[in-house]
Amino acid sequence: MNRVTAALTITLLISTMPASILASEYQSWNAKLPIVLTLFLHDELSDTDIRNLDTNYFSWFTEDLESITDRKVEIVPILRTPGYTDFDYRLGDAGKSLYEWDQRVIDYVIGENKPRSKRHKYLLITRDNLTLLTEGIAGSGKRSAIASLSAYRTIAHEVGHLLGATHSDGQLIGFPFALTCNTNMVASEVFFIKNCYRYSDRAKQSIRNYLKDTP
Ligand SMILES: [Zn+2]
Repeated sequence: MNRVTAALTITLLISTMPASILASEYQSWNAKLPIVLTLFLHDELSDTDIRNLDTNYFSWFTEDLESITDRKVEIVPILRTPGYTDFDYRLGDAGKSLYEWDQRVIDYVIGENKPRSKRHKYLLITRDNLTLLTEGIAGSGKRSAIASLSAYRTIAHEVGHLLGATHSDGQLIGFPFALTCNTNMVASEVFFIKNCYRYSDRAKQSIRNYLKDTP
């Protein structure tokens, strides 16, 4: 069982597990607290989309993020929750969609008494782009983002923004050209260049700087 599937399973089973098991499992990691990604999986995602999330969109980048930050990455999936997972994200203006989504997140964090810290991020995962060309959007260093399943690295890209990485941290890596690949923070898809499936060294440093004063 890979990591995100395990995290999803742990979250789903959390109410049935004795507290002592959870506590000992938690203590087996190092002293730094985890990055917690709360994922609102939009109602339009199919069962197949959800089954493929881990392999295609998460396992490779959460593994990278854990090694960059020396923190566990916890995934908290939220399904079929009116007001959140049915959010109408195609408002014709991606900035407006992000603003409106962030208002929902504020309601959620306050209403559910969720922690507010640089380690806690809230993403709406959508099947389609926000606009014709916008695959995802996030505020740099903020709490909220929207990311579509249109491209495999969009979720990693938006989480990178939430953790302080910028497009100037995006690097094409490789030489000769045939071996070049896009790291996660490269701004646009170039269809004939494959993904590196990792953050660049500059992005790694930005993410470490962002979290350096966070327990
Ligand atoms: Zn971006």
